[in-house]
Amino acid sequence: MDYPSKKSFTSKHPQRNLLLNSIQDIFFPRSCIDCSEPVEDSPYQYICKSCAQLLILAHPPNCITCGYPFLVDKIMAKNCPHCLDLKPNYSRGYTLCLAKKVGRQLIHNLKYNNGLYLINDLKSIIRQLPHLRRICQDAILVPVPLHPTKQRARGFNQSETFAQVLQKTLNTNIQIQNLLIRTRFTQSQTTLSKEQRRENIHDAFALSSECKFDLDKKHILIDDVFTTGSTANACAKILKKAGIQKIELLTLGHG
Ligand SMILES: [Zn+2]
Ligand SMILES: [Zn+2]
Repeated sequence: MDYPSKKSFTSKHPQRNLLLNSIQDIFFPRSCIDCSEPVEDSPYQYICKSCAQLLILAHPPNCITCGYPFLVDKIMAKNCPHCLDLKPNYSRGYTLCLAKKVGRQLIHNLKYNNGLYLINDLKSIIRQLPHLRRICQDAILVPVPLHPTKQRARGFNQSETFAQVLQKTLNTNIQIQNLLIRTRFTQSQTTLSKEQRRENIHDAFALSSECKFDLDKKHILIDDVFTTGSTANACAKILKKAGIQKIELLTLGHG
């Protein structure tokens, strides 16, 4: 699929693309999504060089449940403070980056500000994490669904978009299946406590009636942010009940 791009031209001619982008940059200079400074000499299109240094990617080793990168090797997975209370219905969790500073802006813009122009920066992040290819190979990606009302208002489901970008960027055998539906409208989780989040999301998901299961395949739930893990865990519970043996979780950000 082709993603709408806010400020870049695409064509089959890379030389022409470079020229068009250069001309465009003169008239519409790209600014950083976090600090609003112009983006120059950065590995990203919408993250400046200084903010790029503050973007923490989740290189291994990571917590096996939430994917938090252990910046200090001494911390043991079982002691991870970010997911101590979670009893996961999935076997492994991974994430791409910490949802702090520019990482938070990236996710926020993708989610709420029609930030599909950030897709190329998302692809750059994915390419910097080579272990993702092994994780996603031959897997079925299952996006966490939005309620239809919310999806209509937003125009897209950010988790599904994330799954599509993974499929396109990793260039390996990956399927995407919308196996889940959201059965009721839930209050935004952002201001809720851990307990309230669990209650809020309880029974909010079900299996899609159209889905066909391949129970032997690895299924990876795809979500935008890991906060307490309650949303993804509620989804994993549904897949587990359906008889899927191997369930993992991949989130865009952690925090
Ligand atoms: Zn910046
Ligand atoms: Zn953890």
